[in-house]
Amino acid sequence: MTIVSEPSRCSWIESANLRDCDFPIQNLPYGVFSSAGSAPRCGVALGDRVIDLGELETVELIDAGAPVFASPSLNRFMARGPSAWARVRRRLVELLSEGGDRRLLDDHDLRARAVRPADKVRMHMPFKVDGYTDFYAGRHHATNVGMMFRGAENALPQNWLSIPIGYNGRASTVVVSGTDFRRPLGQKKAPAAELPVFGPSARLDFELEMGAVVGMPSRFGEPITVAEADAMIFGYVLLNDWSARDIQAWEYQPLGPFQAKAFATSISPWVVPKAALEPFAVAAPKRDRPLLPYLRDQGPMFYDIELEVRLRPEGAARATTIARTNSRELYYSAAQQLAHHAVSGCLMNTGDLLGSGTISGRSKDSRGSLLELTWGGAEPITLDTGEARTFLEDGDTVTFSAWAEGEDYRVGFGECVGKVLPAPAEPPWPGERENADG
Ligand code: MN
Repeated sequence: MTIVSEPSRCSWIESANLRDCDFPIQNLPYGVFSSAGSAPRCGVALGDRVIDLGELETVELIDAGAPVFASPSLNRFMARGPSAWARVRRRLVELLSEGGDRRLLDDHDLRARAVRPADKVRMHMPFKVDGYTDFYAGRHHATNVGMMFRGAENALPQNWLSIPIGYNGRASTVVVSGTDFRRPLGQKKAPAAELPVFGPSARLDFELEMGAVVGMPSRFGEPITVAEADAMIFGYVLLNDWSARDIQAWEYQPLGPFQAKAFATSISPWVVPKAALEPFAVAAPKRDRPLLPYLRDQGPMFYDIELEVRLRPEGAARATTIARTNSRELYYSAAQQLAHHAVSGCLMNTGDLLGSGTISGRSKDSRGSLLELTWGGAEPITLDTGEARTFLEDGDTVTFSAWAEGEDYRVGFGECVGKVLPAPAEPPWPGERENADG
């Protein structure tokens, strides 16, 4: 006979105990879902099930200090802060693990209402994005891009080893995985051409990134330390910073990317809590140049997370894995980026999203964008279907997946998927119509 005094590392939802399951009891990522006839509300993924947190809150099995879960976004829960996050997580482990609190397991009616098959629900944006900032913290990515644009001598910009470089992106077009988007229209200019032309981007790309979700706000005008910044982070998602390279190349100087990245940014639907990633925290990379005091490393705040990119052309039976890398390749942690963001006095809010920057490894097959994988389009890659790719074509589907590998379980992120639709038809622009008529 076994006496269980603490919740075990297994769940009574058996699919969660499979070795390669993304969502074991050690993970418990948060998202927003709806099922037939019900409004979007907060849930947790466990094995092949979604647990309705609104239901558990209504029957008082979980308590975040205020009603927060019958809500179409995680923002209210995130704003409750780290002690509420920890309390709810502990309660969920008790309720969902084998040998824990049996009140959900034994209540058949409640279980029918609160435990839903994941393949029967629709996932929504997990939180309302308050602001979206994208960084550039991948050293190999920054080096590769620098070599292509400025030559090997000046590959890394002079400020790169001192400052987490970023730009303010568009919160309005951050979309949840599974949302298709149209190829963007814009201005582009070939290097040899004298003047720009207008039309659909011909160099459409993905960028493999992690997104950090800010749970607690900072105060207007007040800097924060790296440790304080780390405590403000609620969790992490996969993030695809879709990029139109031809539009970017023409517009980016001197203020950085604008329309080249404003048309869509995809995130995975499940926010993996920082607490689930703690066993996978690793130390910072070697610092070539000491960081200024406000950015200095304060404990292991990087993560050992495997990342994978797959590409599937329209109609193809299967996707081709085109890159594999690891988030350890980042040079600045999300906590350092957040501390840097707030140091000027910039207010950071619940629901702010920080993109890590493209994550590329050292080897050729570990590059996190087509720009790097095909070296600016000069070296096409070949897919399993036999087709070649330099940049994305209409109908292409790009899928990211990620997981941290434990001894007998893994903490997965699920998938971040997006499909490229053809560019919108151009309206009859003034002037062109006159030319056509006359
Ligand atoms: Mn990016």
